[in-house]
Amino acid sequence: MADRSPVWHPFHQHGLGEAIPLVTRAEGAALYTDDGRRVIDAISSWWVTTHGHNHPRIMQAVREQTEKLDQLIFAGWTHEPAETLARGLVEIMPEGLPHVFFSDSGSTAVEVALKMALGYWHNRGEDRARVLVLEHSYHGDTIGAMSIGERGVFNRAYEALLFDVGTVPFPAKDPQPSLDALEAACANGDVAAFIVEPLLLGAGGMLTYLPEVLAEMRAICARHDVLFIADEVMTGWGRTGTLLACEQANVTPDILCLAKGLTGGSMPLAVTMASDAIYQAHYSTDRSKMFFHSSSFTANPVCCAAANANLAIWREEPVLDRIASLSDRLGAMLARLGERDDVTNARHCGTMVAFDVAVADQGYLAEIGPRLRSHFYARDVMLRPLGNTVYVMPPYCLTDDDIAQVDAAITSGLDMVAAS
Ligand SMILES: *Cc1c(COP(=O)(O)O)cnc(C)c1O
Repeated sequence: MADRSPVWHPFHQHGLGEAIPLVTRAEGAALYTDDGRRVIDAISSWWVTTHGHNHPRIMQAVREQTEKLDQLIFAGWTHEPAETLARGLVEIMPEGLPHVFFSDSGSTAVEVALKMALGYWHNRGEDRARVLVLEHSYHGDTIGAMSIGERGVFNRAYEALLFDVGTVPFPAKDPQPSLDALEAACANGDVAAFIVEPLLLGAGGMLTYLPEVLAEMRAICARHDVLFIADEVMTGWGRTGTLLACEQANVTPDILCLAKGLTGGSMPLAVTMASDAIYQAHYSTDRSKMFFHSSSFTANPVCCAAANANLAIWREEPVLDRIASLSDRLGAMLARLGERDDVTNARHCGTMVAFDVAVADQGYLAEIGPRLRSHFYARDVMLRPLGNTVYVMPPYCLTDDDIAQVDAAITSGLDMVAAS
């Protein structure tokens, strides 16, 4: 256990004195701690690890790249791993996104998307700067990303820094009011872009909606020339059952954000892919129209090498079959759990299953969350309920034995809650 450490952890209340496990090694879906435990990483280390930890092909690519080039300024310079990756992404992602801009996290991929959208309208001399968002969305923790996300306890202190956006109601069972609200907002003529998490809203509580709704939202934006931004930072790389969630709705966005699973979850890297129209709005002999964004580690060669290995895995291995198999097995677990009276709103999207625990105390700060988390950890399972929502989102290599262990931990956790 890391005690009296100078480390200040994210989304962690140090004042509660909870033990902080020290992980020394990982392999597949397992984390190994310094006190000799094998813990199942049932949330893919916060939704990033796709194929499994320390994937041999990805680690090998990283080792090889470190022998050649560690880091390079990317403004007007280039390197082979980035060129290969950009070509590979254009090939594997939906047609119509021929330009790839690199950054290093999901939040920065989203910030870049917003700047591209506003830059597009600015460079065309049109006065459109309003951003539309979906209720309950999460797009990251930087100021811009927070501005377009759900407001709540996690950003109340910073409200003065957040810009105003238009919020479209979440498309619940009857999506029509949501679609009507989007149509009305788009018709105003001042909207630059609409940003969505396709099919599955993560941090907002693992909320799902149908591909038909996503397709209709995209069509509404197209009718009103509103740019459609798909934040596939979490949903991308197979999480929802297909490479991209957008595929299930036959949707190509104007701007696509990818991060988390881009390197198989092994290294920090992100891309924002853009339509040719977005690129052309910045393309000019006029230097004032260039895209004004960079960060020090843009397209870091070692991270790009990891992403190239991930792409090779997608091209050469039956990744979608593994995902389908995992999805079936997680679905069977959810069906068993769903028979309980205290399990409600069961939802399943690809390799994510979630349900709400029927308790009076709900919301992000619900006490039941940390109680269940420590119960699960005591049973060597890492899960992090969102308030009273329990979800499982494991790496695709999870075994049947691992699933049985996760199932048993959740079942005894629910029994513990019911008994208290
Ligand atoms: C995690 C996430 C982000 C932020 O990504 P980071 O790499 O944590 O900055 C953005 N959008 C969505 C949908 C996410 O799930």
